[in-house]
Amino acid sequence: NLKVGIVGLPNVGKSTFFNALTNTDLGKAANFPYATINPEEARIPVPDPRFDWLCEVYKPSNRVPAFLTCLDIAGLTAGASTGAGLGNSFLSHVRAVDGIFQVVRAFDDAEVTHVEGDVDPLRDMEIIQTELRLKDIEWVEKSLDSLKKTSRALGNNSLADKARKEEIATVEKVLKTLTVDNKDVRKADWGNKEIDVVNGLQLLTAKPVTYLVNLSEKDYARKKNKWLAKIKGWIDEHNTGDPLIPFSVAFEERLSLMPEEDREQAQKDAGCESALGKITKAGYSSLKLIRYFTCGPQEVRAWTIREGTKAPQAAGVIHSDFENKFVCGEIMSYEDLREHGSEAAVKAAGKLRQQGKPYEMVDGDIAYWKSGA
Ligand code: GDP
Repeated sequence: NLKVGIVGLPNVGKSTFFNALTNTDLGKAANFPYATINPEEARIPVPDPRFDWLCEVYKPSNRVPAFLTCLDIAGLTAGASTGAGLGNSFLSHVRAVDGIFQVVRAFDDAEVTHVEGDVDPLRDMEIIQTELRLKDIEWVEKSLDSLKKTSRALGNNSLADKARKEEIATVEKVLKTLTVDNKDVRKADWGNKEIDVVNGLQLLTAKPVTYLVNLSEKDYARKKNKWLAKIKGWIDEHNTGDPLIPFSVAFEERLSLMPEEDREQAQKDAGCESALGKITKAGYSSLKLIRYFTCGPQEVRAWTIREGTKAPQAAGVIHSDFENKFVCGEIMSYEDLREHGSEAAVKAAGKLRQQGKPYEMVDGDIAYWKSGA
């Protein structure tokens, strides 16, 4: 179960954002168990027009969309990497998530104090990047030390020795990326073998980051803020390609607190739309998650899998028996169903295909699993 953690300096709007996420019943009307797992962890339905369409067509009694699991992680301040304040427990929480929503404060409000004194999103992004990198450097140096120690015990030229040397070379490259190249680990190119070593290190700067820039409601509505271009520039310079989403926590909070039926009008009146759906989708895809569907009159359901998952493991997400006794899957694509209008028509067109164990799932596949006794 992959998770995104909400990270940022104090008083940037993290908790308010998290509460808006959990309060907003993005799909409560659709009759599925909408659950906050615990106070710090929420399952947010990921909006998907394909899912909505499938529900319209199958009219199932039960509907379960894909979810993004989201965690509120408090406690990052400058000095966290050296254990100041809640530093270490904070960083261990970051280690446990798979992706990061980084909330950046770009709203002015004299009533809300800034931990660093004034509003300066670039400085804030520097602080967070520095803390995460310092922690990674410390971690990598430790691993390198212990690798070198145990390496001596292996003896020269053994197979294990060779593998160990390759591992050390990769870890050294990670260290160079962080120190000499001054880059986050996710921003370097890693070969197939290296990837396994890098993943094994569970580094903080290897996790995908989505920058969420918290604007005042007014700035969000007029799509203007003096920091936005600078923030974009900073990301381009330091972490090219990381997504940036402007939003307004105050606006999202206001929407989340009103009855569902008033929200559409409120968004019209404000002249802007909630960004929660966009944010949830961005988080989901930053984790390289895709979904397939199972459809029938009982239930239409989205199942979350990682990109590259093969059919048996995809079936195993439903039940381990489906994987262990996997026979095949009857699979059609969402597009084909949409085009032909019904399962029978897809079948008649020869596009309902039997797929075996080597089949790699495609986002939007609709599957019927067959498993043996
Ligand atoms: P956290 O420390 O990052 O979790 O920040 P909180 O969500 O607890 O917010 C800290 C304070 O800032 C609270 O008083 C919020 O009401 C306020 N706040 C949060 N987001 C906004 C915003 O978008 N605009 C304004 N004006 N205040 C906000």
